Amino acid sequence: MIGAVDIGGTKIAIGIVDDAGKVLSRMQAPTDPNRYSAGIDLIASMLRETASNAGVVITGIGIGSTGPVDPMRGEFGDVDFLPGWRGRSPVNDLAEIFNVRVALENDGDAAALAEAGWGAGRNRTRLIYITVGTGIGGGIVLDGKLYRGVDGAHPEVGHQVIDPAGPQCTCGFRGCWESLAAGPGMVTWLESHAPADYPHRQGITAKRICELAQQGDAVALQAVEHEAFYLGLGLANLINLFTPDAIVLSGSVMKSAPLFLNRIREVIRGGCRFVPAEKTELTLASLGDNTNLIGAARVWHYRFGDATKG
Ligand SMILES: [Zn+2]
Repeated sequence: MIGAVDIGGTKIAIGIVDDAGKVLSRMQAPTDPNRYSAGIDLIASMLRETASNAGVVITGIGIGSTGPVDPMRGEFGDVDFLPGWRGRSPVNDLAEIFNVRVALENDGDAAALAEAGWGAGRNRTRLIYITVGTGIGGGIVLDGKLYRGVDGAHPEVGHQVIDPAGPQCTCGFRGCWESLAAGPGMVTWLESHAPADYPHRQGITAKRICELAQQGDAVALQAVEHEAFYLGLGLANLINLFTPDAIVLSGSVMKSAPLFLNRIREVIRGGCRFVPAEKTELTLASLGDNTNLIGAARVWHYRFGDATKG
């Protein structure tokens, strides 16, 4: 029984996940970006409570976290969202509190491992997992093994440049995939292209744009068209670079995937002539809203369990 810890910029989700990837109990709380010690105390008390709710004893802890982490040292890196957590080691701290082995990965890698092991990516040799929500993240699993860069670094698929004249990104470039094709990018596009008297402008969200597009709203449909174009360009780049068996799509924007998929496929077909792009399956994540939590548990199995390849 693995205690799963999913650390995001705004919330921490905790769950108990069995060795088939099923969530037995879960709870969540807001993240305090500045106070690490209070955060660890909160995580420990939620782990105890979810274990007690599920009636189990925790035998290991897996953590998936936003932002750069050092998976081997078990430390947080330079996480923009969590300035007070930088350099701290939840792996050592939770191992000490619970006396079990603890493993940490970036949350995109954790979710990729979950979809590869328990989800839509089963039986896929070369898998890229992409999540499109308030940002774009992902992970790459090749032959069951998580792809790591130099010093264990996590590749940032969301910061491939799609349009050098595009909006400024926090990474230093302009026009990153994330700045154009994540939910906020879709909102920005609509706000700058909708007529001044567009009635849905006030407080519009990516989710609302998708709803309006489904109802046939012409401006929302245009925003969706641009979104699909940008999504397609980023995915086409990944296909040209990796020619994977499958790309598993996840995240809040992808809940409206049927709005985008035809156009995405058209974009890919239009520019991936020299690779067998039609063989790369675009598939939706199958673990649902708990993908990140299940991913955190999978991190433990990947590092210490039968699937030890990490
Ligand atoms: Zn960027």
